[in-house]
Amino acid sequence: MRTDSDFLLKAYNTFGIEAVAKKIVFLEDSDDFRKLGDYAGQSFFILGGGSNVVFPDRYNGTVLHPVNKGIALVENRDGYYIVEAAAGEVWAEFVDYCISQGWYGVENLAGIPGTVGAAPVQNVGAYGMEAKDVVDAVHCFGIVSGEERWVGRNECRFAYRWSRFKGEWAGKYIIDRVRFRLNKTFVPNLSYKALATAIGDKDELTARLLANTVVSIRDSKLPNPKEIGSAGSFFKNPVVDGETYGRLKEQYPDMVAFPVEEGFKLAAGWLIEQCGWKGKRVGRVGVYEKQALVLVNRGGATGADVRALAEKIIDDVQAKFGVQIEPEAIMV
Ligand SMILES: Cc1cc2nc3c(=O)[nH]c(=O)nc-3n(C[C@H](O)[C@H](O)[C@H](O)COP(=O)(O)OP(=O)(O)OC[C@H]3O[C@@H](n4cnc5c(N)ncnc54)[C@H](O)[C@@H]3O)c2cc1C
Repeated sequence: MRTDSDFLLKAYNTFGIEAVAKKIVFLEDSDDFRKLGDYAGQSFFILGGGSNVVFPDRYNGTVLHPVNKGIALVENRDGYYIVEAAAGEVWAEFVDYCISQGWYGVENLAGIPGTVGAAPVQNVGAYGMEAKDVVDAVHCFGIVSGEERWVGRNECRFAYRWSRFKGEWAGKYIIDRVRFRLNKTFVPNLSYKALATAIGDKDELTARLLANTVVSIRDSKLPNPKEIGSAGSFFKNPVVDGETYGRLKEQYPDMVAFPVEEGFKLAAGWLIEQCGWKGKRVGRVGVYEKQALVLVNRGGATGADVRALAEKIIDDVQAKFGVQIEPEAIMV
């Protein structure tokens, strides 16, 4: 088990915050995961690619960082494959690899930053699909209990940007590998309007072309973490009941909203933009000029700067619309 102390996390979080961890443990294989019982009772944080986290200047616990690798076809079933990938694999590279092998179904999730192990945690989603559509089972270790188990797709209790791993199991279980159910034939998912429009009437739509189109739409809307630090969409889209939606729609006829099972999902980016935040800068942090949902590092930002900006935005949206928005990013 490789470890390091007073470890600079700047290159380990996409916000580019110059945080320092008291200790970091690199988990390279299953044996390393099995030894995690040693950390029971201590404070620790599980870190994947750091693309959805905001660190304080100093983290006085241990960062558990899966870096295990491997992607394998483990079952060839009637109509689909079961593919297993290690938690430390880079998600976007995993998607590319699946396409190159003729394992289909993850094209719409191309280009999402982060690791395979984190994808089920918040049920990553984009362009008309979510991880839950392809996850078959998740293998994890109970850090405190020491148990080792497979958790089936239903048991993960996936929801919008949510699963048990982000809820009651956060910090209790660490994922070391994930199994995906992937199609043998390519069936494009063009349910997302902007994607269907970008694809247009291309005669020969391949999985690669679909994934490349997703990536180019993403690049036009989201900052590249190598150039501008961010955690992608910082806030979740809030869901309100029919009465609240009706009241707001009457007052703001242009309000962007989508009907969902529990009521109406409002576009948090629209709410934030209406509060005048789009493109605004506050010291070392700001709101991205192309998308108000994205908070960005304008140079030398600290976790406290990000947190303070997020709080201001949450308060403004609450004051103007009476709607509570919540961060999607994890504040460590
Ligand atoms: C530019 C940009 C664009 C983005 N676009 C999208 C998007 O389109 N859709 C979307 O859903 N998200 C998006 N995100 C957010 C981010 O990519 C996802 O949340 C991703 O899954 C985070 O992966 P990570 O490995 O970086 O996890 P981290 O940020 O390191 O961790 C995220 C959470 O998962 C936990 N975790 C990480 N690994 C494990 C593990 N092995 N076991 C248990 N818990 C673990 C952490 O403790 C933490 O709570 C975007 C982020 C950026 C910066």
